[in-house]
Amino acid sequence: MTHEEAVARASAEPVDESAPTTAPASREDVRAPLFRCERCDGGLGFDLDALVCTDPECPAAGTGVELWRAQERRVDLGLDVPAPGPGFPRPLLRGLPHPYVTPVTAGRPWWSRVDARRLQHCQLTWSCQVCGLPLPTRAKVLAEGNGDVRNDSALHGRCLRVAAGRCPNLTGAGLRVVDVTADDLLADGRPLVVDRGATATGDRVSSWVLHPARPGT
Ligand SMILES: [Zn+2]
Ligand SMILES: [Zn+2]
Repeated sequence: MTHEEAVARASAEPVDESAPTTAPASREDVRAPLFRCERCDGGLGFDLDALVCTDPECPAAGTGVELWRAQERRVDLGLDVPAPGPGFPRPLLRGLPHPYVTPVTAGRPWWSRVDARRLQHCQLTWSCQVCGLPLPTRAKVLAEGNGDVRNDSALHGRCLRVAAGRCPNLTGAGLRVVDVTADDLLADGRPLVVDRGATATGDRVSSWVLHPARPGT
């Protein structure tokens, strides 16, 4: 069955109109696999921390699937709703503010994972990794001692304050807050080009470092 056939089949299934649309997980069979293979529609399982198809007959068996892509497929199949979109303040999930780039499955955030499509969107359009909204010309990054930019994206000062002390990835020894414009950054070794209207695919997230030739960084 192709992906298109799988989507068509899923959308042809009857929908219980009385069920609350905000809690799709509650009407999901708890024994069913959370994530499904694009090739065979069988369940994906975790092999250490990689998602893989567990059907040995499947041509994609053993090939790692990025969690955010598997989650997008859950949404495409109508099994889940998208993670909270851009906005501030952030909605609380499990008592903590949800960062825009964090994938969410059935209301449960994957704190240690990144939605590469959303991260790439933030990179290409100069948007904030925490709230997902456009950044002003000057924004903040967290830089390591060697100039590497943590999370390869920028954020608002207010969003940095929200995340500081809550997000382990944005807190830590050796990290410093740097005021930057896009001109102060290199993406994969080249000057960062911002295109507010760009569309992210998630296929290519770039690595950001502070531009070594910019004063003040
Ligand atoms: Zn498969
Ligand atoms: Zn923000």
